[in-house]
Parts: sequence; structure tokens; C-alpha cells
Amino acid sequence: MARALVQPVTDCLDPEAEPDELEPRFAAGRLSLDLALTVGERWRRSFERLRTPSDLGRWLELAGLVSPAPTVGPAELSAARELREAIFGLARRAMDGRPAMASDLAVVNEWASRPDLPPWLTGIGRTVHRPSPDAVPAALATIARDAVDLFGGPLAARVRECAAPDCSGLFLDGSRAGARRWCSMTACGNRAKVAAYRRRRAGAARHERNDRERVTTG
Ligand SMILES: [Zn+2]
Repeated sequence: MARALVQPVTDCLDPEAEPDELEPRFAAGRLSLDLALTVGERWRRSFERLRTPSDLGRWLELAGLVSPAPTVGPAELSAARELREAIFGLARRAMDGRPAMASDLAVVNEWASRPDLPPWLTGIGRTVHRPSPDAVPAALATIARDAVDLFGGPLAARVRECAAPDCSGLFLDGSRAGARRWCSMTACGNRAKVAAYRRRRAGAARHERNDRERVTTG
């Protein structure tokens, strides 16, 4: 069995988070990293997006794993959070070039050893995951296997943290050069570029003002 609860369900409610910030995000480019995105702004506010069991059910559906959204129990929510923290721990260590924590490996390996969601061919070019009564634990096993595949291979070196300070979400850098800085160019990348442009404009305006003052007082 996986380890005991990391934290009780009610301990990670953040009254400061806005409703749109609590919406699930799937920007990481890998299923296991997407699960890690269910905690927002880890470095600052660290707010929980999987607040209730039904949040996890909805997340599993939006992730394309189980449809319709399954009924989730509190213990399954705790297990998903524990798996998520283990995946985040592996990502953090991979990015820092440090060895993985044995406790993180144990959680991921435990879930990866369980039966996962079987793929189900529904037509040419179409697969879904077959509905199953054990859909939630099977989905967690699927996520854990994705983590094993990711962190056990060369792509572990391509796990990144978004450079936008108000995002800092994990993502997989699939670019040829391996120098991607933002999880999403259209969202975080553009926002960072606009902010840099405004800083440059403000700096130039300050210089102009100083020059004018020197002329009038000189
Ligand atoms: Zn980002």
C-alpha cells in the first residue's frame, strides 16, 4: 500500500486563490507533470487545486483518463495528492541534478506496479481508456507509469520549470534546442515579453526625463 496521508484534505485550502486560478491546467506536455500542476504557485502561495474528491474526478475526466468523471473517495484524493508530491519531488531533483528521494521512488513504484487503465480501441485513429470499476486507482497507476517512463529515460533532463514567476509550472521541453523557458509561449511567454517591453519603455522614459532636467537646470 502507499504511505499514509501526506496531509488531511482540509489543510491545504487557500482562501486567497481566485476561482479561475483553481481551474485544472494541462500545460505540462506530460500526464504525470500535469498532475503536479494541481498545486498552484508552489514557490509562493502554494494553493491546492484538488480541494475535494470531486475535483479529482473532474481532473481525471479532463485529463482524458476516465469518462464520465468517476466518483472519488477521500482516501483516493489523499492517494492522488501523495502520488503528485512524489512526482513533483522527482521533477525537482531531476531539475537540480540530484538523486531521487527513496520515498518518492517508493510511492511512484508502488502505484506503477498496480493494474493501469487498459487502452481501448474505438475506431481507426481513436482510443479511449476502457471504463473500469477501479477507474480511480487504475488512473493513478497510469499516471505513475507515465512518471516511470519520463524519469527513467533521457527526457528526465528535459523537465523544466516555467520562467514566469507567477506560473513556475512544470513542463517538458520538447524543443530541438532544449532551451524553452516558458510552459506556454502564448500565455506565459507573451506575458513575460510584454512585461520586459514595459520595463524597457519605463527605463527609457526615466532617462529622457533625467536628460531634460539636466538641460533645464544646467
Ligand atoms: Zn508558465
